[in-house]
Amino acid sequence: MIWKEKLKKGICNIEQLVKYIDLTKKEQIQLQKIIKKHPIKITEYYLSLIDKNDPNDPIKKMVIPSIGEFDLSGSYDTSDEQKNTKMPGLQHKYAQTALILLTNRCSTYCRYCFRKRLVGLSKKEILHKLNDAVKYIKKHHEINNVLVTGGDPFVLSTKIIKRTLESLLTIPHLNFIRFGTKIPVTLPDRIIEDKDLVDLLKKSSKKDKRLYIVTHFNHPREITKKSTDAIEKLISSGLIINNQMVLLKGVNDNAEIISDLQNKLVEIGVNPYYIFQCRPVKRVKKTFQVPLYKGYYIIEKAKQNLHGLSKRFKYVMSHKTGKIEIVGIINDDMYFKYHQAESLKNSGKFFKKKISKTAGWLDDLK
Ligand code: SF4
Repeated sequence: MIWKEKLKKGICNIEQLVKYIDLTKKEQIQLQKIIKKHPIKITEYYLSLIDKNDPNDPIKKMVIPSIGEFDLSGSYDTSDEQKNTKMPGLQHKYAQTALILLTNRCSTYCRYCFRKRLVGLSKKEILHKLNDAVKYIKKHHEINNVLVTGGDPFVLSTKIIKRTLESLLTIPHLNFIRFGTKIPVTLPDRIIEDKDLVDLLKKSSKKDKRLYIVTHFNHPREITKKSTDAIEKLISSGLIINNQMVLLKGVNDNAEIISDLQNKLVEIGVNPYYIFQCRPVKRVKKTFQVPLYKGYYIIEKAKQNLHGLSKRFKYVMSHKTGKIEIVGIINDDMYFKYHQAESLKNSGKFFKKKISKTAGWLDDLK
């Protein structure tokens, strides 16, 4: 079966889901209501990673809806993406980086997604006019890189990815291009089986304009023979692979799991890049967010089992004002530092807030 069929064949309704996972009638009715708001989609491959006998299985928690999604505290736009949108599908928040939302679709919808407002839903925030985006970037010489994301750009046909890359590669002042994708984790066959995609990426990654992949492993059980093979194809095509993990309650809020993941990533050639604090997203926050205080100590404990390469990540909050690193705790204070700031006045700013053991976001701290 080719990857496109595997992408189509994924689970996308409750009737299909009950064939794989035990759900009571009541649960089925509740989940039905949830997926009307935020669709379900899981590839058969990713579903096969779930241990059906474990009610608290971490992979299951990431992709199977739960009644926690009825909780509406939080926001659908925690990073002010609306404000930074220059045209549908093009965001420009940090001077050097432009963000292109190429699609609203993914192979698998993660229940904790911070773009829950759009994945599998409306297309109004995605790019419709590639030429206009290229014109904008050409005019803004401060932009030296583009992050192509979504949704997951690798669910698109290789033809569309090619057209996008060819246009972006005409911009002289771009030094590198990134693709944000969870495909190596959720549908590795898309990379393993499509020689045209791998050849395209190899051809497009040049010595003065490298292609980077930012992927999204959250748990060591996602590192399988297939995902390792997909990563190997990308690395042997000259791509550089970085990983973003999101700290998630009941999934990876455990020092051993985090250290195991980061060590295994280095083993397969993936660079640990960020550990993100889960954002206070509507229908996500209550189920998945770990308090900053707890998160800090979990990650510090994980670091005890990591070497220099596997602890290159930063533990950050992607706040509307910038990426803020959670640096440390002394006595009654938590210390933070802007790693990336939207405004110059915050660039590199180091600051402290009174400890709260329950706060999950900067705005919850005094
Ligand atoms: S693959 Fe990425 S964009 Fe898609 S639902 Fe998961 S986290 Fe969101």
